[in-house]
Amino acid sequence: MGKHFGNLQRVVNGERRYGITPNIMGGFIKPEELERIAKVAKKYNGVLKITSGQRILITNLKEEDLPNIWEELEMEPAVISQNSVKNVEMCPAGFCKRMKYNTIGMSVKLFKKYNQMEMPCRTKIGIAGCRNACGGVYSKDVGVIADINGLLMVTAGGSAGFHPRVADIIERDLTEKEALEFIDKLFEFYKTNAEPGEKISHFIERIGLDEFKAGIKSI
Ligand code: SF4
Repeated sequence: MGKHFGNLQRVVNGERRYGITPNIMGGFIKPEELERIAKVAKKYNGVLKITSGQRILITNLKEEDLPNIWEELEMEPAVISQNSVKNVEMCPAGFCKRMKYNTIGMSVKLFKKYNQMEMPCRTKIGIAGCRNACGGVYSKDVGVIADINGLLMVTAGGSAGFHPRVADIIERDLTEKEALEFIDKLFEFYKTNAEPGEKISHFIERIGLDEFKAGIKSI
């Protein structure tokens, strides 16, 4: 099916129904894209669901319609492979009165650099412009949170799924440039040392938090 894939969601009266999730950067969507999503949903009898991952799921679709739907959407699928960075979620930062640092610029940089990158296991990144950490940054594998002093904290090891875990704060008081460099090193250490299929939270639990921090610093 090439890029025209969808996930089998359920079987309705013996007919298979598929869901697709177009790539939307951190929930920021152009009006034209939103219009195209609404148009295909109407045309192909799709059901729209706003997801927790700042995306829009179009479901209840028939397999034979998927190639046309992707063509008419003029968008790419959000997730290509399971063991990859499956999402980079971001808060509206600069559009929010509580923001301590406008993290939108670095969120875009992180999205462009890491979204869909191969990893040992499924990985999510979250970025927030203040310690309210909207979007559940402490449940993400890697996070950036602007502290009350306007500098950045990097978190790691969060998970909201089958084995919930609150992320640890790995480093504090970083500038944007330092935080981006730190995350580069964190991923390099993770990719080089984790076992295949090992989520960051499990990796930290296996080697210990101090060893994890020391490993990043050694890169
Ligand atoms: S994390 Fe802070 S800056 Fe971002 S949306 Fe929430 S309150 Fe606003």
